[in-house]
Amino acid sequence: MPELPEVEIVKRALEPAMVGRRVKRLVFNRADLRFPLPEGLPLALQGQRIERLLRRGKYILGFAENGAGFVLHLGMSGAVRIEPPAGTSLHEKHDHVEFHMDEGPRVVLNDPRRFGFLDAVGREDCQDYPALAAMGPEPLGNDFNAEILAVAIKGRKTPIKSALLDQRIVAGLGNIYVCEALYRAAIDPRRRAGDLNAKECTALCMSIRSVLRDAIEAGGSSLKDYKHTDGQLGYFQHHFAVYDRVGQGCGACECDIVETGGVQRIVQAGRSTFFCPEKQG
Ligand SMILES: [Zn+2]
Repeated sequence: MPELPEVEIVKRALEPAMVGRRVKRLVFNRADLRFPLPEGLPLALQGQRIERLLRRGKYILGFAENGAGFVLHLGMSGAVRIEPPAGTSLHEKHDHVEFHMDEGPRVVLNDPRRFGFLDAVGREDCQDYPALAAMGPEPLGNDFNAEILAVAIKGRKTPIKSALLDQRIVAGLGNIYVCEALYRAAIDPRRRAGDLNAKECTALCMSIRSVLRDAIEAGGSSLKDYKHTDGQLGYFQHHFAVYDRVGQGCGACECDIVETGGVQRIVQAGRSTFFCPEKQG
C-alpha cells in the first residue's frame, strides 16, 4: 500500500505531465472505484489548465485554473502510469481513469482491487474535505515536531505502533514506515503511546522524518528509470531495516540473531508489526 514517500514520488512524476497543461479529456472506464467516480468532474476539468498538484498525507490533489480540482487516493493497489504522447496506448486491464492531457501524455490510474478513489474537490473548499479536515500535521513540514507529537499522544493507552497509524496524529504514515521509524528510534512498538517521554518523542520525530526522507530519495532515484519504461508509479524498491524481515538481522545489525531470533513479527490491531527484540526490547 503506497504511503507518504510513494505518493510523494507519484506527485513529483505527475507534475511535468500535468501542471501547465490543459485537460483534453478525462475518461472514466467504469462508474466506481471504492466510491462512485464524480460524474461532473470530466466536464469541470475539460479544457482547463492544471495549475498545481500537491500532496497531503497519502492524497494527491490537483487544481485547475477555474478552481475545479480532484483528490486522488491510491488505496491498496492503485498505481499511476504516464504514457508519452507519441507512444502507443497500452490499455491494460484495470485502467479505470485516464487523464488525456493536451499535447502531453496520458495519465492512467490502474487499480486492480479498487480500494483507491478519485473525487472532485474545489480549490476553495479542499480544507473542508472530510478526509483532509481531520488530518494531523505533515511529518516533513514545519507543523510537526516532538512537542506536537507529545501532545497528540498524551494519555493514549494504545500501543505507539497503532497510534502512529492514526492519520489524525500524523499524516501519511502506514505500516511499513511506522515499523521502520520505531526501529530507528529504538522504541518498542508495544509501548503505550502516552508513556513515551520527551526524549523518546524527540527521537521518534527525528526517525519519522529521516525514514521518510530516505525513502523519498530512494524513490526519486527509481523515478529516473520510469522515464524509459512503462513502469507503474506508486511502488519502488527500498531497503527496509525490519519490515518483512522475520528471523533476519535488523538494519545495521550487531545483534546476535542466534540469541535473539532476529527480527520478530507480531500482530497489532490486525496489522503486522516487525521489530528487533534487541534494539527495541
Ligand atoms: Zn537487531
